[in-house]
Parts: sequence; structure tokens; C-alpha cells
Amino acid sequence: MKIAIVGAGATGLTAGYELAKAGHFLTVYEKSSIIGGLASTFQIGGTDIEKYYHHIFTSDSELILLVNELGLSDNLKWYPPSNGIYINNKFYPFTTPFDLLMFDAVPLFQRVRLGLLILKSNKIESWNYLENITAKQWLTDKAGKAVYIKLWGPLLKSKFDVYCEKISAAWLWNKFKLRGSSRNKNGKGELLGYMDKSFGVIYDKLCRLIIDMNGQVLLNTQADEIIPGSDGSVSIRTEKCVESYDCVLFTASPGIFAGLANKHLPVDYKEKLNSIKYMANVCAVLELKESISPYYWITVAENDAPFVLMVEHTNMTGKSRYGCNIVYLSKYADALKPPYISENELIEREFIKYFNKLFPKWDSSGLINVRIFKSRYTQPVVTVGYSKIKPGFETPIRNVYTASMANIYPEDRGQNYSVKLGIEAAGFIDKHSIPVTS
Ligand SMILES: Cc1cc2nc3c(=O)[nH]c(=O)nc-3n(C[C@H](O)[C@H](O)[C@H](O)COP(=O)(O)OP(=O)(O)OC[C@H]3O[C@@H](n4cnc5c(N)ncnc54)[C@H](O)[C@@H]3O)c2cc1C
Repeated sequence: MKIAIVGAGATGLTAGYELAKAGHFLTVYEKSSIIGGLASTFQIGGTDIEKYYHHIFTSDSELILLVNELGLSDNLKWYPPSNGIYINNKFYPFTTPFDLLMFDAVPLFQRVRLGLLILKSNKIESWNYLENITAKQWLTDKAGKAVYIKLWGPLLKSKFDVYCEKISAAWLWNKFKLRGSSRNKNGKGELLGYMDKSFGVIYDKLCRLIIDMNGQVLLNTQADEIIPGSDGSVSIRTEKCVESYDCVLFTASPGIFAGLANKHLPVDYKEKLNSIKYMANVCAVLELKESISPYYWITVAENDAPFVLMVEHTNMTGKSRYGCNIVYLSKYADALKPPYISENELIEREFIKYFNKLFPKWDSSGLINVRIFKSRYTQPVVTVGYSKIKPGFETPIRNVYTASMANIYPEDRGQNYSVKLGIEAAGFIDKHSIPVTS
């Protein structure tokens, strides 16, 4: 078949690779000038690095299998992380169960209850009841009010803003489960994976293989409309032309899809897609002369903080490849409000001001460079009852399919689940579509 994929992120490139392997002719449309989507890269010191912090867990089996299949396993390295939390103007270590026990921002009894809840999360198999209660209610009932108010409330607020009190407990349960499952089986603690020269090496390789198998990846090419033909074929209109395919897989957010196929979708289906909200993300990448903390990952659990997370990437990987220390400051944001709508200069000023509040002894002459990245569609908002609006592969238009981060729930979005989704979507298309164009 002649197949089009919209989006050259992890999902689109994996699906494209699988479909090309199955003998189909692929065209991947990517509106950006580079591949990789949210996992795309830029360079520091001549080495590729993600615009947004990235690591994987030992439980990310689909991605690890793909890395092996692509012959890239030598690039994948595993590191023990060191995590911290900043709360009540203080840094707490937060890597081991012992750290949780010593975390005195929350009363001891509630800390123990939280620890037990996290442990128990690994054993929960049927999560349906969790999807109908909020994360707030689940945490408050199972671990206590202080755990919510002091710890998870500010985190959910900074991740989901106005939606924070509506987030499904199933999402939080999965977060607990994921961190637990990345603990080393020998009891030596958590390990996080990172690819030498970035995860971009995976996407570069997928792209090259698609091209080697007679496919094409069109950069700077935005799909503007998806048009069903009367014979079952599907056309994609871009600024330059209209091209017809046997089928189309759309991998960006459902709201964009609803816009592109607008005239051809029933109203109730469009309403369902448009009801899926996404958070935007604003990320500052700092290049520093000196390391700023002993931690890889610091959760900033303060209501007045302009960023929620500080990730010192080089505390995981070392700095030799980059020639400097690299710190991400990240904030999930409402797309209609600051900081997402703010000018980069203002974002930089506010982030650096708060960074200085966290580290009063830091001398700003140690700041080599700052880059600000923003993306509109970075995290689906998974509110209570999300299963009812979660999209499937099939759409009301024959031979048009969708697979995006919105399909991944109850798992939290991440490259592993994009790879898994891409493989499954490719399998579905291969099985269910038949050639219609000549
Ligand atoms: C701040 C942050 C931190 C993260 N940390 C991690 C992590 O530590 N580990 C991890 O595994 N994952 C992490 N992720 C998630 C990971 O990046 C995503 O799950 C994954 O990259 C999603 O891939 P995707 O292909 O589904 O979507 P996307 O990457 O969003 O790709 C969709 C693509 O479609 C393109 N597109 C959209 N509309 C059109 C159009 N009309 N025409 C043509 N092209 C179009 C976009 O430009 C984009 O390239 C993080 C994400 C963020 C934002």
C-alpha cells in the first residue's frame, strides 16, 4: 500500500519503519524542520541533546527491544539517579525508601502510609476503580491530607494547572508503578537509561531505514487537510500539493486531527476529540560552568515556583561530551497563559531569578548560555473517566487512523509507549487496510 503518516515523532517514525518493513511505501509528513517531535534535539558542545530532559526506565521494554533491533544497544547506558525535592525552602534527598522515611515536611505516619501506597501500587492489576476517582481523593484517603497538600498537590498543580484536582487516580497510580518497576531487581535501587549522543540516534536510524526501504520523510511539510476519496483512498493537502494514499495514520494531537479532517467527521466524534485537553511545556536549558547540586532530578514542590522540575542532565551522564554542566528547568503550562505566552526574555529572567533563590550562593557569571524551548502539545490531561474519551486507532473516515499520546492512558506518555503504539498501529493498519489507489 501507499501509506502516509503525519508526524515524524517517536510514534510516526516507529509506525513508518514497521510498515516499510512489511513492504508498504511510506511518506512521512513533518511540519518541523527536524525529526523527533518532543524528543527532538539540538547541540551543545557539538553533541546532540534533547530540547526536553529525557531518560528511560528499565521497564521500557518496547523501546529497549527497538534499540537492540536497530543495532544501537551499545549506545544505551544505565545510570543510578539521585533525586531530591525542594519544599519549605529546603532540599530533601528523595531517591530511596529511607529518604521518604526521613522526609519531615510530612508527618511520619503519613510518610509511612505513602510508602506503603507506592509499594502496593506495583501489585494493583485492576485499575478501573482508580479511573473514576481523582488522584487527590485517592492520595488523601490512602496516605493522608498532608501528603496531598505538601507534596502531590503542588506537583499536580504545576503539571496540570486548572485541571489538577480532576486528574484521574489511575494516572498517578501508573507513575508510582513506573518508578517502582525501574528499581534494580538486585535491590540496588533505580536505574535510568540514556543513549550516548541522545535518543535522537534512534529516530535518525528509523528515518534512514524508512528511506532505504523506498519511503520518504518530508520535512517542513505540514499536512493542512485530510480528504477522503469516494473510492476509499485518502488525500493529504499541503501548501504545495494534494497527494492520494491507500491510508493515512495521524500521530499528532486529536484536536489537530479534528481540525484537519473537520468537514468529514461527525459532530459528536469531533466534540470528543476536542474535549481532550493538552498541557503545553516551557523548558529552559542552562549551560553552566559548575555543577549546581548533587542531584539529577529535583522536584520543586513550591506554589510560587515558575518551574516544577530541575534536571541536571550531566549529573547522570557526566559532562565530557558537552564541555559544560547542563540543567533543564521545566514547567507544564496552560497554553493560553504565561509562561507559555510570555516572551522568551521574560521566561529566562523569571526562571533564573527563582533558580538564584534556590541556590543563593550561585554566581550568575557561571551561566554560559540559556535556551528556551516551548511546545504546545506535550501532555494529555487525563481527567476522571478519561477512558470514555480515549481515542482508538480507527476513525469515522475509512482508511484514516490515529495514534498519539492521547491513546496511551492509563500509561503515562513516554517514548516507550509511543514506540509500542507505533508498532501496534502499524500492525492494525497492515491487517485492516487494503490497497485502493493504483
Ligand atoms: C518536558 C518533557 C519531558 C519528557 N521526558 C521524557 C522522558 O524522560 N522519557 C521519555 O521516554 N519520554 C519523555 N517525554 C515524552 C516523549 O517525548 C513523548 O512521549 C514522545 O516523544 C511522543 O512522541 P509522538 O510521536 O507520540 O508525539 P510528538 O513527539 O508530539 O510528534 C508528533 C509530530 O507531529 C508533527 N505534526 C503535528 N502536526 C502536524 C501536521 N499538521 N503536519 C505534519 N506534522 C505535524 C509534530 O511537529 C511532531 O513532530 C517527555 C516529553 C516532554 C514534553
